[in-house]
Amino acid sequence: MNLRRLLDIVLPRRCAICHNILGPEEQCLCAACITRLPFRHFESPTDNDLVRRLWNTASVYSGETLLAYQADSDVHTLVQHMKYRGRTDLCQLMGRMLADKLMAQDFCRGIDMLIPIPLSRKRLRTRGYNQAEHIARGVSQATGIPVRTDFLLRIVDNPTQTSLRAADRMHNTARIFQARNPNGLKGKHILLLDDVITTGSTTASALQTLTESVPRLTSSVACIALTSLNG
Ligand SMILES: [Zn+2]
Repeated sequence: MNLRRLLDIVLPRRCAICHNILGPEEQCLCAACITRLPFRHFESPTDNDLVRRLWNTASVYSGETLLAYQADSDVHTLVQHMKYRGRTDLCQLMGRMLADKLMAQDFCRGIDMLIPIPLSRKRLRTRGYNQAEHIARGVSQATGIPVRTDFLLRIVDNPTQTSLRAADRMHNTARIFQARNPNGLKGKHILLLDDVITTGSTTASALQTLTESVPRLTSSVACIALTSLNG
């Protein structure tokens, strides 16, 4: 008996969504819960709900999401585990699932590096990890594209946004990132990664910061879950 099976008996691993005991081949989520996830399909990688959300304020080449985000749903539970409960293994699994989708549609062609949306140093210290970085690592495991965390810095935290209306969020995220060593990105095609994209204002702010300081940068964006703007 291998160690994994022995551990499964002593300390059974459970599905992060339904809490049923996982089979030996299952990771983080059971097959039934994965099947029920609201996978989202875009007709075009370069003209869709995600890229249109960013076009007003930022320059973006293509965009993709794995799932549709809904409040009080399994996806909400997933994101809670990824963000607040230390489930870096789940972040990486979701990253690999996103990568499978990206590779199936040739989305990764020409992409030089993966850049996760950073946390501020302070928030990174309190949370202990950046969920977006672990998602990026999952994407990297499947695609072989390197993860770079040294080009984009977050200088201020977002204020707690739950009480702010969408219009105010644009203002609040205006200058929260800083580009570092922009010459290293010159002429590159990057894929910016995040867990959930809502209004897109944080993503747009990161894109603006990079585009302003890097000559001939091409940017694409992907996330695990995208909210519907209609609620
Ligand atoms: Zn399950």
